[in-house]
Amino acid sequence: MSDRQPGFATLAVHAGAQPDPTTGARATPIYQTTSFVFDDVDHAASLFGLQAFGNIYTRIGNPTCAVVEERVAALEGGTAALAVASGHAAQVLALHALMTPGDELIASNKLYGGSINQFNHSFKSFGWNVKWADATDPSSFERAVTDKTKAIFIESLANPGGIVTDIAAIAAVARKAGVPLIVDNTLATPYLCQPIQHGADIVVHSLTKFMGGHGNSIGGIIVDGGSFDWRASDKYPMLSAPRPEYQGMILAETFGNFAFAIAVRVLGLRDLGPALSPFNAFMILTGMETLPLRMEKHCANAKRVAEWLKARPDVSWVSYAGLPDDPSHALAQKYLPRGAGAVFTFGLKGGYEAGIKLVSNVKLFSHLANVGDTRSLIIHPASTTHRQLTDAQKTAAGAGPDTVRLSIGIEDIEDLLADLDQALSA
Ligand SMILES: *Cc1c(COP(=O)(O)O)cnc(C)c1O
Repeated sequence: MSDRQPGFATLAVHAGAQPDPTTGARATPIYQTTSFVFDDVDHAASLFGLQAFGNIYTRIGNPTCAVVEERVAALEGGTAALAVASGHAAQVLALHALMTPGDELIASNKLYGGSINQFNHSFKSFGWNVKWADATDPSSFERAVTDKTKAIFIESLANPGGIVTDIAAIAAVARKAGVPLIVDNTLATPYLCQPIQHGADIVVHSLTKFMGGHGNSIGGIIVDGGSFDWRASDKYPMLSAPRPEYQGMILAETFGNFAFAIAVRVLGLRDLGPALSPFNAFMILTGMETLPLRMEKHCANAKRVAEWLKARPDVSWVSYAGLPDDPSHALAQKYLPRGAGAVFTFGLKGGYEAGIKLVSNVKLFSHLANVGDTRSLIIHPASTTHRQLTDAQKTAAGAGPDTVRLSIGIEDIEDLLADLDQALSA
């Protein structure tokens, strides 16, 4: 054994996992149980009082889910993490620890469509007010700051247009405002980008996408960067004020640089309840073991498809940060040096009708609403996810009538190009 720090691929396979101490099982077992027996009354009391770490009830923690948490924290370079039932649950719980009614959140205007809905509608009913800033202009975030701002939320690589956000510049705005920067790192994964290294305080993921990677399980996670000083102001009472149900404990004082991860578990997950199932945790863990291999192939295939589309006479534009003349290319070289991901959009000269024809004629690509599967996926947003919007609204959302979104899988590139070729020529 040596003291060397393990590399990313080693952590993807091993972080958080050991052979099972009672059976010797080498793969992490699925601890399919709701609850865990206490050693004795004192043990139970110390678990409930947060004086000892241990398992009580699967809504609050589970040993299979704990391996996911340790592994993703290691891959992101965070101090601790909390796995939850979905990416959307991760977003709600992360913000629940920070926001009270009347507070403001500044969010990038280039987010996953589901997040835009969640922020505009459900968050509004919590009294959380969202101010939208321009993803490509860090000064627009600065202009949106008020004394009610509690957090800034961006995506590292934005879904669906493949826009790369200047994380360090927006982290500087957050630091100056005294609020944490939350980065949704779903499309990049920590293999391509580690936002905490660039100044993010909290990272969230939909594990449903590339992290699990096989299109079989919904999950999400919140990673604590350990960098934010929750006691620097009185803005974050959940972390900095005494908690009545925990004998007046101040979480930021007791748990230091992983207090946020504790708060989202013992207050957020405990009370709101979106726990990850141990079975999904097992599926996601198995998927994560091959994350580096898959991301290499996803990125190499995506670049080839983007180049191939760009050279076609029936394609009017391709928005992929991996192409040298793309507006996001310089930021991609800084933040995503190993590849620009595998989700991007392009435009068809034939407009709406050509988009419908393409998604109807593909055979290997699957026409569905997901990304980050081993399989290649295609969707025509104007006729599906963005159908209810006007043409002007569609175009503003990056989903104009001619726009097609691809999530490139890990199949043989020749087969992917042949399928697109036959569908475009049909
Ligand atoms: C899918 C997705 C989400 C939501 O995750 P779910 O697991 O579907 O709840 C959030 N952000 C991004 C970037 C996504 O792609």
